[in-house]
Amino acid sequence: MINKIMYKPTIGLEIHAELKTNSKMFCSCKNDPNEKRPNFNICPICTAQPGTLPVANEEAIKKVIKTGLALNCEIAKDSKFDRKNYFYPDLPKGYQISQYDMPFCQKGFLEIEGKKIRITRIHLEEDTGSLMHPDGAEYSLVNLNRAGIPLLELVTEPDINSGREARLFAEELQMILRYLGVSSADMEKGQMRVEVNISVSKGKKLGTKVEIKNLNSFKVVEKAVDFEIERQTELLKNGEKVVQETRGWHDKKEITFSQREKEEAHDYRYFPEPDLPAMHFDEKFIEEIKGTIPELPEQKRERFKTEYGLDENSVEIFVVNKDLSEYFEKVVSEFEGWLESELGNEVIPDEKEKKLFKLVANYLISDIKGLLRDKEFSEAEFKITPENFAEFVKMIYKGEISSKIAKMVLLDMFNTGADPSQIVDENNLRQMIDDSEIERIIKEVITKNPKAVQDYKAGKQNALQFMAGQVMKETRGTAKPEKVQKILKKLL
Ligand SMILES: [Zn+2]
Repeated sequence: MINKIMYKPTIGLEIHAELKTNSKMFCSCKNDPNEKRPNFNICPICTAQPGTLPVANEEAIKKVIKTGLALNCEIAKDSKFDRKNYFYPDLPKGYQISQYDMPFCQKGFLEIEGKKIRITRIHLEEDTGSLMHPDGAEYSLVNLNRAGIPLLELVTEPDINSGREARLFAEELQMILRYLGVSSADMEKGQMRVEVNISVSKGKKLGTKVEIKNLNSFKVVEKAVDFEIERQTELLKNGEKVVQETRGWHDKKEITFSQREKEEAHDYRYFPEPDLPAMHFDEKFIEEIKGTIPELPEQKRERFKTEYGLDENSVEIFVVNKDLSEYFEKVVSEFEGWLESELGNEVIPDEKEKKLFKLVANYLISDIKGLLRDKEFSEAEFKITPENFAEFVKMIYKGEISSKIAKMVLLDMFNTGADPSQIVDENNLRQMIDDSEIERIIKEVITKNPKAVQDYKAGKQNALQFMAGQVMKETRGTAKPEKVQKILKKLL
């Protein structure tokens, strides 16, 4: 009998992101994730000296609420901080200031390819310090630079069903955090950490939950989830049990492995933080934060599609690369008024406009990206001004330079930042629009290559290609290849 039972994975995410603020969460120490000197950004408060008192960082609170608003959450009017008690060497106070039953944000959602992933809550807490284990040493070192850095925690409902969805959610969230300016959310640097809760079941009842930690890239999130779905499904098919535990990801073997079995459910003995007053946010405070939310990735996707008529792939590249898309829009704004005046159109036909936008997008996405190799586009380091880039695209659009010449001009512009008309004029690269000039060169090529002419007449097509190549060489690529072919055939 065929086993038709379907095993359904259920996945929820817990994501931490370090907030980008000037100072730490409860003291005035610098919040600098790039500080390399250990125990440099520390003070009596974040090292938990007796008698010190925390003061909450308003900037961090606003940033969490801003994130909640951007993710369609309900924002609490009343909230508080709580103590989460546990012992660990990187936690000097012996407790973490976090939020228990009154988080700032609840009941939000984020759409991934049209599917709503519900967000249970977003709250604010402080990060812990970090431990270093020197090679071969019998001790560990504690670095408290990170202790007290404001940390956002977001928890989703178990609405995710695949590794791909988990990755897409995390990627979209990272982008939103960056658009909002609340976090750099760099996963490799540990500024964003994704934990996965995953179970597989064949009925309505949820299966045993396994937690996967220490996933340091989006790719790994997807791989680990898919691996775990497979592993748990296999166990269940074989009639075995899934153990409730925490698993890690082995990068080389590409497998998850058991780190520790779940001890008794933690009792953190939460209680309201007595050193910090309860908070109340009025409508005005929340509205003001709402007013600072910029255009978000999803809105930008929509706008780039409708306003510029770009295809999905191009749009996505621009949405991911904020700097590149801002540059694109600066270039496009240079065309304002130009189409009417240059091309003499009273009303700009939409198609012409979109063709121009596509040209800009293509040169930025393929050619410039190619010239940058693996480097991210940064306008500050980019030598071509938007004016010059627009000028360059206009020349292609008007047929003044061929696409082959365009590549040479662009390379020159990329290296020197020079004006494209100047490059073209100095090197005499304008497209030969004059047919008589092309004809003259073709006639010359024909006279010089009697053998090729004979071959062509004997039916050898590559003889034609050879002569066309000679013409292109003579004109240094400034003639349009199609035109050369046409005239060549005519004269032969
Ligand atoms: Zn401090």
